[in-house]
Amino acid sequence: MLSRSALIYLSRHEGLKEFAAHFRLFKKLTTRFVAGETIDEAVAAIKELNAEGCTASFDHLNESVASPAEAEAEVKEYLEILARIDETGIKSNVSIKLTQFGLELDPELAYKNARVIVADAARRGNFVRVDMEASSVTQLTIDIFKRLRAEFGLNDVGIVLQSYLRRTYDDAQELLKLPARIRICKGAYNEPPEVAFPDKKDTDANYIRVMQLLLSSGVYHGIATHDPKMIDATIEFANREGIGKDAFEFQMLYGVRRDLQRQLAKDGYNMRVYVPYGKHWYPYFMRRLAERPANVWFVLKNLLKG
Ligand SMILES: Cc1cc2nc3c(=O)[nH]c(=O)nc-3n(C[C@H](O)[C@H](O)[C@H](O)COP(=O)(O)OP(=O)(O)OC[C@H]3O[C@@H](n4cnc5c(N)ncnc54)[C@H](O)[C@@H]3O)c2cc1C
Repeated sequence: MLSRSALIYLSRHEGLKEFAAHFRLFKKLTTRFVAGETIDEAVAAIKELNAEGCTASFDHLNESVASPAEAEAEVKEYLEILARIDETGIKSNVSIKLTQFGLELDPELAYKNARVIVADAARRGNFVRVDMEASSVTQLTIDIFKRLRAEFGLNDVGIVLQSYLRRTYDDAQELLKLPARIRICKGAYNEPPEVAFPDKKDTDANYIRVMQLLLSSGVYHGIATHDPKMIDATIEFANREGIGKDAFEFQMLYGVRRDLQRQLAKDGYNMRVYVPYGKHWYPYFMRRLAERPANVWFVLKNLLKG
């Protein structure tokens, strides 16, 4: 059986995508987790989500760009997304990755590129979420976020923290002083035990600690998980502390636990779905398989059948 770390390793080898893409069925399967390759396809997916009572966050898939020109193309894409959100009236904000804007080439370039997007979103009354990537760029990401937050408002730009990192509770406390809107998730990368809890139990316990800190802060945060245990703990804590349903939002990934997404929206919770689209779907797709080995069997079975 392919392990989580093997799948995350494979996610960094785009060459395999070429091989996999030969199977028509593989592409069909990816559409379960990826809303398509174009903005139009993502807009159509978001319209459906909106009709089910869910809001969305656009994610143009492209990590670790190789040149400043590629980073600039990402900026153009996001400006286009923000314009399309306004034109179509869909309920969506945007999520960005700083490596997409050149973080690994030059942090200053990534800051300048991200700033263009946040300025445009702020002008339009929209919101930019800065995703969190591997631990090699955690501090850089927080530093750039703080610069953006110093210039723009609480409701213009937010950040993500990962509960598998040992440092996260302290980071949350620091960021709440700004204050900042935070999305808490478990974390999706391969990390060494020095920086991340090797044991899932500790990641989950930390998730609950951070969730409680966030909900008690009076700031609107995102509780991103498909884990019923984390969701129940959030609802239970909110009820116990008299925190209203409109004081936070749940967030899930496109195509994952759609039943639960609809149920929470029906129960009156704010539910935001992260909607990835674009040609560079391969690493994202492989990380989703890594999260749930049962999905690997699902893919393999269908490939064999096809
Ligand atoms: C909105 C959103 C934004 C995110 N942003 C980031 C980010 O910026 N940085 C980052 O590192 N990570 C991010 N992630 C990913 C996150 O870190 C986890 O890898 C992912 O959410 C799986 O963790 P979980 O909380 O769902 O719990 P897990 O413990 O992984 O899973 C709990 C249960 O959820 C269900 N489930 C989980 N994943 C899947 C799947 N792929 N397919 C089917 N069922 C599944 C299963 O029933 C599973 O038993 C984000 C996740 C969400 C929902």
